[in-house]
Amino acid sequence: MNDIERNLHNIKTTIPEGVTLVAVSKTKPVSDLMQAYDAGQRIFGENKIQEMAEKWEVMPKDISWHMIGHVQTNKVKYMAAFVDLIHAVDSYKLLKEIDKQAKKNNRTISCLLQIKIAEEESKFGLSKQEAITLLDAEEVKSLDNIHIAGIMGMATFTNNQEQLHNEFENISAFFEELQPKYPQLKTLSIGMSGDYKVAIARGSTMVRIGSSIFGARNYG
Ligand SMILES: *Cc1c(COP(=O)(O)O)cnc(C)c1O
Repeated sequence: MNDIERNLHNIKTTIPEGVTLVAVSKTKPVSDLMQAYDAGQRIFGENKIQEMAEKWEVMPKDISWHMIGHVQTNKVKYMAAFVDLIHAVDSYKLLKEIDKQAKKNNRTISCLLQIKIAEEESKFGLSKQEAITLLDAEEVKSLDNIHIAGIMGMATFTNNQEQLHNEFENISAFFEELQPKYPQLKTLSIGMSGDYKVAIARGSTMVRIGSSIFGARNYG
């Protein structure tokens, strides 16, 4: 077994059935992704559209590609032909562009609304009220080529377990509050390498794990 295969195997033994594993492969070469693919992984997450498109072109076509990073409206067109799920949607303007580009490709693209949960100031993400306003907006409901499938959040980058618990509990409670009124919301995307066990304990249905599978990233 190679390292990636072993890491994947070990992580899978800690993830309950019903929780989806997104293998976050940003910055990693295609040869690494292929090792994960050969070990059975079919869902990959990237945070740069161009890098994801380059990998999509050369890799097997039964992969589900998730965009987990912040998306600039003018770049949606470069992934609209193949992206399966966009995790960090935080505006009507972006939803409208995703819908437009999906329509051009005769597709429906699933999206998650990014909710601000970290105590630290983050630039991106919606407040709970802003998310509800979007879900209720007639302009959003009339977008036929997007599907809002759930919500996503990022906890503060910290080892403080109590803080992690509180932040995940907060978004998880919001997810449960939304579900009766918006039954299409099935996905709660929370949890990364350092905090996914806490996230799963707090109801995560989708974890995004990179370094624990592929090793630490080098940013050049
Ligand atoms: C990089 C990244 C991850 C994965 O981070 P790891 O700590 O390597 O598991 C998860 N989610 C988002 C949004 C990311 O950008």
